[in-house]
Amino acid sequence: STSWQQPDTPPFLRIEGVVKRFGDFVAVDGVSLDIYRKELFCLLGGSGCGKTTLLRMLAGFEQPSEGHIYLDGSDMTDAPPYERPVNMMFQSYALFPHMTVAGNVAFGLKQDRVPAPEIKRRVTEALDLVQLGPFAKRKPHQLSGGQRQRVALARCLIKRPKLLLLDEPLAALDKKLREQTQFELMTIQEEVGITFIVVTHDQEEAMSLSTRIAVMDRGQIAQVGTPTEIYEYPRTRFTADFIGSINFFDGKVTGREGEALTVDVPVLGISLQVRSEIELPPGREVCVAVRPEKISISREPLDLPNVLRGKVRDLGYLGNLSVYRVELDGGRLVKVSTANTLHSTEREVDWDDMVYLGWRSSAALVLSE
Ligand code: ATP
Repeated sequence: STSWQQPDTPPFLRIEGVVKRFGDFVAVDGVSLDIYRKELFCLLGGSGCGKTTLLRMLAGFEQPSEGHIYLDGSDMTDAPPYERPVNMMFQSYALFPHMTVAGNVAFGLKQDRVPAPEIKRRVTEALDLVQLGPFAKRKPHQLSGGQRQRVALARCLIKRPKLLLLDEPLAALDKKLREQTQFELMTIQEEVGITFIVVTHDQEEAMSLSTRIAVMDRGQIAQVGTPTEIYEYPRTRFTADFIGSINFFDGKVTGREGEALTVDVPVLGISLQVRSEIELPPGREVCVAVRPEKISISREPLDLPNVLRGKVRDLGYLGNLSVYRVELDGGRLVKVSTANTLHSTEREVDWDDMVYLGWRSSAALVLSE
């Protein structure tokens, strides 16, 4: 998914300047997005950022106050839901409790008066796709949460939509099952070759599922990119902070040395070196951002262009990772994490140790917004 490249075909879905107002309140504030065929695209954002409202406009359940939605070249902005080649899977799944799995999956085709033999064939096909063939005669209450989710997916896919919208598809599942189901969802999406748009507030889910992510903030798109781009090159403080954990140091540009900008950071009493292709003039207020896993921690001096000294205040052992909070002179805390490749008895750094923290100039980002 990280190798996504913009196809040279026209976008499959074009969202153009879409605004949604509820009275005076602007829930979606001028969103433009191009989404391509076969993408697994995530709308990611915190509660109330407008992601569900945007999804509902794509489905036709809400009318945009402004803007246009084009699907496969046609203007769908005013089309009712049933005229769109779009299906939506709801967070609640909304399965009919009194119907069997097969009955639930067949429901949409029956309503469309598809002939019985074809329904039968397509139900078998859809249940095989989600690996629920043997469960066709069960009722929803006889299924696990993960299986119910797959019934809901089969019920959407059987109608062969061109675009499938999924609102928090994995929210009802526990962590372990969610991870497994993420992979299943990706496999199924690849197999059916339909464009998926997934709404989620879970950044790990978005990172592991998506071809691309749109990070939303107060009705607007903060940034669009592949998971790698969003994580490694966030453009704003908001995106950097929303995805993963990060340390920010506010400062001022003082100059440039080769590939690196020099940024004076008053709270640290030192200058940091940050690689930046963008030219920022001396005096410009910026923020240096560095992720915990990009920082080396050691009791021995480090030969790196950015070095701080501090004392280990907290040490969290997460099995695969250790996370540290290191207190600098003046009380500022820096988050550091290390991969536990060594056995715990060989751990070098412990509580209350005086340590050096260091990173390369290419390991940090300079953010001016
Ligand atoms: P969550 O993850 O909490 O569902 P969200 O990003 O999906 O959040 P939306 O459901 O799109 O958020 O809602 C965005 C904002 O629009 C919220 O402040 C919500 O209260 C408001 N809103 C949504 N639907 C309506 C409505 N029908 N009338 C008035 N306000 C609404």
